Amino acid sequence: MQFKTILKLIKENREPYDGLLNSPEWNKKRSKILQRDKSCCSKCGKTSNLQVHHKYYLWNAEPWQYDDDALITLCAGCHDNIHKNTSMPWKIFIDGVLTDFHFTPCSRCGGSGYLNEYKHVQGGICFRCRGDQYEEIIEQRNAFRTTKVTFISFENE
Ligand SMILES: [Zn+2]
Ligand SMILES: [Zn+2]
Ligand SMILES: [Zn+2]
Repeated sequence: MQFKTILKLIKENREPYDGLLNSPEWNKKRSKILQRDKSCCSKCGKTSNLQVHHKYYLWNAEPWQYDDDALITLCAGCHDNIHKNTSMPWKIFIDGVLTDFHFTPCSRCGGSGYLNEYKHVQGGICFRCRGDQYEEIIEQRNAFRTTKVTFISFENE
């Protein structure tokens, strides 16, 4: 996933895995979680319309690559509520370490991605973030040149 995509998903507070949740890998993981939670919503105990919710999102992992602790069974109603009322945290694996993924507005342009006073230079795109708006994106963009981002798998543990 691209940073821009993640940013969009964070702003919209959406489940990032539309289209991936029909895969056999996810079905396997989903059954495992449902079984663990005894096929009941963990919030209200309902046993119909169950869904498996990710407590946080990893930008460099597929939906089935999460540790079981990160997943929870909810009914459709409780699941909707969670997504309406909480913003889901994002995490990232950098050099094998699970790290919070925060977004801080660019210190030069304040997060707009533009510098009005430099409109005459390259359309005013911020010199510091190059229009990417957030410090973390600048950092990650630099870090990814030198750091190996590993895809995780809990399957063999
Ligand atoms: Zn429920
Ligand atoms: Zn969810
Ligand atoms: Zn900027």
